Amino acid sequence: MQFIDLKAQYQHLKSKIDKRIQAVLEHGHYIMGPEVQELEEKLAEYVGVKHAITCGNGTDALTLAMMVLDVKPGDAVFCPTFTFFATAEVIAFEGATPVFVDADESTFNICPIDLEKRIQAVIAEGTLTPKAIIAVDLFGLPANYPELEKIAKKYDLKLVEDAAQGFGGAINGQKAGGFGDIATTSFFPAKPLGCYGDGGAVFTNNDEYAELIKSYRVHGKGKDKYDNVRIGMNSRLDTIQAAVLLEKLAEFPKELIARNLAAENYENSLAGTFKTPQIPDGYLSSWAQYTLVSEDRDAAMAKYKEQGTPTMIYYGTCMHQQSAFKELGYQAGDFPVAEKLAETVFSLPMHGYLK
Ligand SMILES: *Cc1c(COP(=O)(O)O)cnc(C)c1O
Repeated sequence: MQFIDLKAQYQHLKSKIDKRIQAVLEHGHYIMGPEVQELEEKLAEYVGVKHAITCGNGTDALTLAMMVLDVKPGDAVFCPTFTFFATAEVIAFEGATPVFVDADESTFNICPIDLEKRIQAVIAEGTLTPKAIIAVDLFGLPANYPELEKIAKKYDLKLVEDAAQGFGGAINGQKAGGFGDIATTSFFPAKPLGCYGDGGAVFTNNDEYAELIKSYRVHGKGKDKYDNVRIGMNSRLDTIQAAVLLEKLAEFPKELIARNLAAENYENSLAGTFKTPQIPDGYLSSWAQYTLVSEDRDAAMAKYKEQGTPTMIYYGTCMHQQSAFKELGYQAGDFPVAEKLAETVFSLPMHGYLK
């Protein structure tokens, strides 16, 4: 049994994907070929935003968002401590200071109450300029955007949605990728919508941001890539990956239903044994991970292993516990909810072809 069965998906889509890749090999526009623009249009339409701009990976997508928001040394950017490293890394990469926030006990996402406390502490301390919030749609469940938008407005902060795991999720019909000032996603193969290599995208309704992102992703280009009007990066989605994604995106709504059915089956058989994922009313998860909480995680995982079912731990280390962030000076006990999650969570296989 596979934790995420990419081979089963490929077998299902093989003839369509092979044809799409073959078409790219024949037209030969490997960089920024027609499939890239076609995909960007389809992504924007699916998410329900004005602009979808593809790029090299989900980390670059976040970096592009930081660049557009002019995040720089002296700025504080708030993000969850219970997330994948990239969320916090991109803040520090710009020379700004990540300020970590505890998790909500029920959803595992950034806790709006703790967020407001941490913002007030930064303001009271007076050394950093509060600039932005990066919220994460952890394990596929959109963060609490109704509350986060209120807090962003109250403290005049920009809001970024890290939807690397959230693509396909929704709150009352509004899709992940459509929240905040800028949203990002990843097409890493194991994400809900993945390609066959690295890939990512940035989403926004802001025309000015969209123009800036298109410039930053190609060496800060002006009228073309030999006219360079700002310092940018080289972060484009390969045409072959766009071709793969076009076929996967067409199939994605069906897979999303299958993932939700699998989650329902898990819930029905496991709710008595473990703490199962809590999906608030009106929310839809894309089930990047199906994550359980167990007070005796080692024993639970050993039992699954015996039965031939693979399990994984996402995440065993919070951001404030990472060596790379040692200098920020956080201590054990600073984030009690997240620290407890890091000790008790584990995930079961999840994909659109589970039997
Ligand atoms: C995977 C992931 C990223 C980074 O995406 P890459 O494409 O691997 O660079 C960022 N944030 C979160 C929450 C992720 O899960």
